[in-house]
Amino acid sequence: AAKENGKASWVRFEPSMRQDMADHARLAGELRNGIARGELRLYYQPVYDLVTGRMHGCEALVRWQHPVRGFVSPGEFIPCAERSGLIVPLGSWVLRTACEQLAAWRAAFSSTIEAVNVNVAVRQLREPGFVDEVAAVLSDTGLVPDDLVIEVTESSVVDGPQVRETLQALHEMGVRLALDDFGTGQSSLSLLRAFPVHALKLDKSFVDGIADGADRGRLAVAAAVAQLAEHLQLKAVAEGIENQEQLDRLRDMGYRYGQGFLMARPLPAAECGALMADVPAHVA
Ligand code: C2E
Ligand code: MG
Ligand code: MG
Ligand code: MG
Repeated sequence: AAKENGKASWVRFEPSMRQDMADHARLAGELRNGIARGELRLYYQPVYDLVTGRMHGCEALVRWQHPVRGFVSPGEFIPCAERSGLIVPLGSWVLRTACEQLAAWRAAFSSTIEAVNVNVAVRQLREPGFVDEVAAVLSDTGLVPDDLVIEVTESSVVDGPQVRETLQALHEMGVRLALDDFGTGQSSLSLLRAFPVHALKLDKSFVDGIADGADRGRLAVAAAVAQLAEHLQLKAVAEGIENQEQLDRLRDMGYRYGQGFLMARPLPAAECGALMADVPAHVA
């Protein structure tokens, strides 16, 4: 079962536990306590430049270490956090922690990544104070706006005028925006052209279809997204790369950047930092 869902390192729920967890209010309550008790951890998955082989950036991914249930995957609790509104304080913690971590890596290593990627839910973007919050975190941590990439889904972009204004304001500040899980939503190409996005992240489902070459449809989408990115002068990023054949074919298609278990899993900050720079700053 662990292999099926691709999250081999996470303990899956038993059916009875899953039923319990389906109780939204209960999960939300546990998550609220979990946040207060400091059970959340931020992991970082390297994003590589597929041409140079260097680590280009990394994506912050939240983990919940439940005292009884063990690791709970974000696929389980992020939807609940969104419905309950807990995503707002949770997301604030993620944003600040990720920026503090990049600042710490910059202080510790002579060579680091270009930016840290943070996933932001549409619910956070609807908060009136979100742009000010981002500005405050950057200033508190000593980062500049292009040290931060905010990952949003296509559905955020079409949420409404308020969210669009927020994304526009972030762009004007100099924060960069990546469209996550690209290819799975209802993309309007004209909207894409008008929208201040700097990267397209091809969804893993299309990468999965590449390995055996049997899935012509998914292969065609993967190739089309790379072309689209090139024509719009956006970065093309592929996520969920699990084998060498996928990597080679994606690079041939024009994906300059990629992340996946083939290169590195999401890692605790210290392990990600160790991969990032072999030379400590005080030595250089
Ligand atoms: P995402 O933003 O699309 O993140 C990529 C997901 O793909 C991560 O799952 C990552 O562990 C997984 N992944 C990367 N490479 C591979 C691979 O080669 N094989 C497989 N099987 N999986 C791979 P994760 O960490 O479980 O997160 C799932 C989703 O939860 C994320 O998808 C994102 O939508 C959401 N999420 C995670 N952290 C946060 C957060 O801090 N805030 C918000 N709003 N959402 C988050
Ligand atoms: Mg993401
Ligand atoms: Mg994604
Ligand atoms: Mg995804």
